[in-house]
Amino acid sequence: MPKKRLFTPGPVEVPQSALLAMARQVRHHRTAEFRSTMSEVFEGLKYALQTANDVLILSCSGTGGMEAAMVNLVPRSGKALVLESGKFAERWRLIAERFGIEIVRYELPWGEAFEAAEVERLLKQHPDVVAVFSTLQETSTGVGHDIEAIGRVVRNSPALLVVDGISGVGAMECRTDAWGIDVLVVGAQKAMMTPPGLAFLAVSSRAWRQIESITRPTFYFDLLAYRKAAQSGETPYTPAIPLIEALAESLRLVRNTGIETLWVRTKLLSRAMLAGIAALGLKPVAKRPSEGVSAVYLPEEIDGKKFLTRLEERFGIKLGGGQGPLKGKIFRIAQMGLVDEVDILGCLAAIELVLLEMGKNVVLGSAVAAAGMVMGKGDWGLA
Ligand SMILES: *Cc1c(COP(=O)(O)O)cnc(C)c1O
Repeated sequence: MPKKRLFTPGPVEVPQSALLAMARQVRHHRTAEFRSTMSEVFEGLKYALQTANDVLILSCSGTGGMEAAMVNLVPRSGKALVLESGKFAERWRLIAERFGIEIVRYELPWGEAFEAAEVERLLKQHPDVVAVFSTLQETSTGVGHDIEAIGRVVRNSPALLVVDGISGVGAMECRTDAWGIDVLVVGAQKAMMTPPGLAFLAVSSRAWRQIESITRPTFYFDLLAYRKAAQSGETPYTPAIPLIEALAESLRLVRNTGIETLWVRTKLLSRAMLAGIAALGLKPVAKRPSEGVSAVYLPEEIDGKKFLTRLEERFGIKLGGGQGPLKGKIFRIAQMGLVDEVDILGCLAAIELVLLEMGKNVVLGSAVAAAGMVMGKGDWGLA
């Protein structure tokens, strides 16, 4: 049986220290001892999210965090501008529809990146938009959107900026406060290297004013309760305690490595990966590739499902497949968290072998060599 190697863009492998932290006896969450862990976690999250705003911890997967952001900001019949291009951006629209929110849609084909100028135009055309819903790293296509530029245009409008950074934060540059992100949503199981089941929200004072002014059609996700509890280092309801214990360890790793070092590392891994696949004649799905995930078109003659199964059975390598219109056509690999140079080189070597075995004309070692060249030139010490 091959060794298991998890390279999906979430969930990702979890550091040993975080796994061990979950193995300890459950602690009670209303104790001084646990509150001190929580305080450390809140501080660690502020650092990872690059914010001085309030950070909240919700016990749910990333999508719960998205729903919380939507229902706390936009009232029923209120207007939301949704930037849609990919599976996860589509989710913003589906949530808004479910809550009877009026949607202004800026839709692009999967793989393309949003233009700040078009966001600006739409906001001028719809001055009553309450909030813009966007995505940092579109995990389904490997696109990294220019949130910094979008932030500049949203800041000059009355609208709030909400960003799904569920997979992007920790993998690619994201400066919540400097870029004017009013609500940032992050998930535990992507670049935060924690098992799934927690979502984090960073909320600006501008966003709080909006939240306080509307009737929020939710009880569990009412963010005012989370803000109040966070002031004393708590959550309003029982948190997923073992996950918090793991998170404390993963955040320690983020802090010790340095967030900017993490950004540089993933950027170099991503460049190496893209150079490797280019050497095989393969193309990325993304017009503007993100750093934490690469989505790659398979040769047309290759059955995507068989390719992924073969990688898994032969080498224990688990990659992501395509979603929606990309199903069966692409593979996706994470360059986040614990994924390192050897992983990328090994993955590329395995991809070469499987493609060769499936009948594609491959020069073995060509992808590995191209990736290695990028790594050899990379300035890994940059902090
Ligand atoms: C994973 C992911 C989600 C969904 O998160 P869940 O934890 O599966 O609910 C949403 N958006 C993006 C960009 C993601 O990568």
